[in-house]
Amino acid sequence: MSSKLRFSFELFPARTPEGMAKLQSVVGKLAVAQPDFFSVTHGAGGSYQEGTYETLLMVAEHTGVEVAPHLTCVGSTRANIAAHLDRYCAAGVKRIVALRGDLPATAMSSAAPAEFHYASDLVRFIRETHGDAFKIEVAAYPEMHPQAVSPSTDFEYFRRKVEAGADAALTQLFYNAGAYFDFMERCDKAGIRIPVMPGIMPIAGFSNIVRFCAGCGADLPRWVRLRLEELQNDKPALVDFGLSVVTRLCETLLANGAPGLHFYTINQSGPTLRLWENLRLSAQVRESAIRIQANLHPA
Ligand SMILES: Cc1cc2nc3c(=O)[nH]c(=O)nc-3n(C[C@H](O)[C@H](O)[C@H](O)COP(=O)(O)OP(=O)(O)OC[C@H]3O[C@@H](n4cnc5c(N)ncnc54)[C@H](O)[C@@H]3O)c2cc1C
Repeated sequence: MSSKLRFSFELFPARTPEGMAKLQSVVGKLAVAQPDFFSVTHGAGGSYQEGTYETLLMVAEHTGVEVAPHLTCVGSTRANIAAHLDRYCAAGVKRIVALRGDLPATAMSSAAPAEFHYASDLVRFIRETHGDAFKIEVAAYPEMHPQAVSPSTDFEYFRRKVEAGADAALTQLFYNAGAYFDFMERCDKAGIRIPVMPGIMPIAGFSNIVRFCAGCGADLPRWVRLRLEELQNDKPALVDFGLSVVTRLCETLLANGAPGLHFYTINQSGPTLRLWENLRLSAQVRESAIRIQANLHPA
């Protein structure tokens, strides 16, 4: 494993020309941090999928940084997925974030095609149809996927994605470093060696973060929730507190072997860049993280 830490920034597609212009300004600021790649989300069940393609072209052209589209398979057909992959190949894309996705309730009730059931089906399909044309990233859930039957079955299905050909994983957001270390211990015991990047969501508001955590089954520690609730009418104090919580989380992760970080930017440059600056300031942590990586995974 390389001792270089890997950083990526996640965006969602702009929906209007005005939104695209605004996003162009945001990615221009984010690109200064020189991430390894930007990823662009993809709506499952046909919800504005064209936007992923248009946004990735804009980001690639405007920043020159590698771009990785997310690709969801639920409710899609093999022909449709193959068409997406061919178009990405033609556009020079070298990395795909392969996901099942969640169908909107309306699509669930209609006769959505069911040629793919799980992300492992998609990973297998990409390898079968496009060989090694793409690096494949998959999702990982240190605190368990909300629909999973149990942590062990969820982990078993994660293992299947790796066996199907995933090169790396990006985790769901979390605020308990222990959940990530536990997940990595399970990977180690199962012989899974792919890099697993912690997914980091900066905290910039009380109700937003409570909603995000509830939506994806992430645990917001009680003391953090209580402090954010108390500070919700004092935005600068809330942002400072959120920043210190997430900076400490990132430092703990990097100092204990995380191979990099994946930032959920929510299409804003400010919160991610403040966090980034904080981490750059603690260069000692990054240097010691690199040394620890080299010791943990000698070449
Ligand atoms: C980094 C990241 C990026 C994301 N980007 C997007 C995006 O762009 N667009 C979007 O719509 N959503 C996105 N999501 C959300 C994701 O689509 C949802 O969490 C979705 O519910 C699960 O997708 P998955 O790829 O993890 O599915 P899977 O790995 O297929 O798992 C889904 C569920 O099925 C279970 N399972 C898996 N395989 C089997 C099997 N063989 N038999 C029985 N059960 C099984 C798992 O335990 C889990 O509960 C993202 C999530 C993450 C972490």
